[in-house]
Amino acid sequence: MAQVDLLIRGGHVWTPGGFVDLDLAVHQGRIVGLHEPGQVRDASEILNADGQHVLPGLMDTHTHQREPGFTHKEDFITATRAAAAGGVTLSVGMPNVNPPTNTAERLQELIAVAKKKVLVDFNHNPAGTIPSEIPKLAKLGCLAYKVFMVRDTGRDYPHMPGIGIDHHGQLLDIFEAVGETGLPLMVHPHDQQLMDTIEQRYWKRGEYDPRAYARAYRDYEGIIWDTAIGLLLRLQKATGTRLHILHMSTPGGLEMVRRAKDAGQQVTCEVNPWAVFLGNSWERVEKMGPYILGFWVPDGHAEELWKGILDGTIDLVGTDHAPHTREEKEVGWENMWKSPGGEPQIQDYLSLFLTEVNAGRIPLDTLVRLTSYNPARIFGVYPRKGTIQVGSDADLVLVDLKQEKVISNQETYTKCGWTPYDGRRVKGVPTCTLVRGKIVMKEGKVVGEPGYGQFIPPVAFSSESSARSATRNAP
Ligand SMILES: [Zn+2]
Repeated sequence: MAQVDLLIRGGHVWTPGGFVDLDLAVHQGRIVGLHEPGQVRDASEILNADGQHVLPGLMDTHTHQREPGFTHKEDFITATRAAAAGGVTLSVGMPNVNPPTNTAERLQELIAVAKKKVLVDFNHNPAGTIPSEIPKLAKLGCLAYKVFMVRDTGRDYPHMPGIGIDHHGQLLDIFEAVGETGLPLMVHPHDQQLMDTIEQRYWKRGEYDPRAYARAYRDYEGIIWDTAIGLLLRLQKATGTRLHILHMSTPGGLEMVRRAKDAGQQVTCEVNPWAVFLGNSWERVEKMGPYILGFWVPDGHAEELWKGILDGTIDLVGTDHAPHTREEKEVGWENMWKSPGGEPQIQDYLSLFLTEVNAGRIPLDTLVRLTSYNPARIFGVYPRKGTIQVGSDADLVLVDLKQEKVISNQETYTKCGWTPYDGRRVKGVPTCTLVRGKIVMKEGKVVGEPGYGQFIPPVAFSSESSARSATRNAP
């Protein structure tokens, strides 16, 4: 065979059928051959993967990249540097930026800027809050829409006007408009009316600290989540629109999704790393307060999430990477309602999950499906992304399951300069990330260049639009 650009030799390679010892031939950014070890010798470059597992690069469908508007926390370059360091080869942004991406014009602008900056491939989930914009956004090649059912009280960030809808009738209009596009609708479930009542009770008692905040979001076993999930599932049933539920963390919500799936409803959902590695400890709520909130996931609830991961109720991991500065977090010790929720995740989550693989809690194959294969399929970029097979993009992450390290603020690439996992020991480390055959991270050092990343529309979208341009170009 003719000489290929790159041969990845000696690895234990994930394929949809299981792990196999294979040499991977890569040419012009794509996988062109899966070979018996030692068969191919002729390559311009050889990457030695002895003792390593070779996985499809991770696809994060939920990255708060913060640009435009909040670039003091993070920007396209720093977010995708952290992504590359963490084994993520496709990062999909979220619309709570300024101005929020709820129109086609804004999305187009954002894509143009991001293209010049990102180190890994990208897309962006616009806010599907203006029904008339929804079809126009699809024409630009977005993979999904995002709606927050949250109206922030006490702060106007991170859930600013323009991205939040808590009116049921407006949600119905949005479900129908998104249904027309065939794309999934991602929703942050939240019952704003119940929350208004619940948080007033805490405030009347003068309770504003992280403990009060943590409890308010969990009162009655997380009622504000469950009533919202019940509503969303009913709207899904009414409209047939593909629904993707974000931030799964309550046993009640899981049970409803499980039943909806059994009944054949078109629903998928995500789990966030913070739910199983961070918010799942009252001790951490007390000790780290604003730096781990988000949300508290009480004893037993995280166990239910692991069950949901293993039985397929949970489809994928979305990082909810949400960097904020220390100054913004410090305010939360006094009043957590004035401090933005969320924290950096994208660089560390693969290592945290690999640690659980080593501990025997989750098979590596399941992890690959959660972080790569399933998101690629649900969001329409499979088989270009999310798998290792001939013809797919050579988006890969090499991991050393035996390597141990301690996560530290010093090594974090996120602009805010801290990680909630600082000091955490992990076993299982990404050692090399490749995007379309190009190494963007090696041994923890990011070597990718800003502007290398490409905008990745749905696979069906690219073939449609290339067919259109082929017709246009025909003589
Ligand atoms: Zn989020």
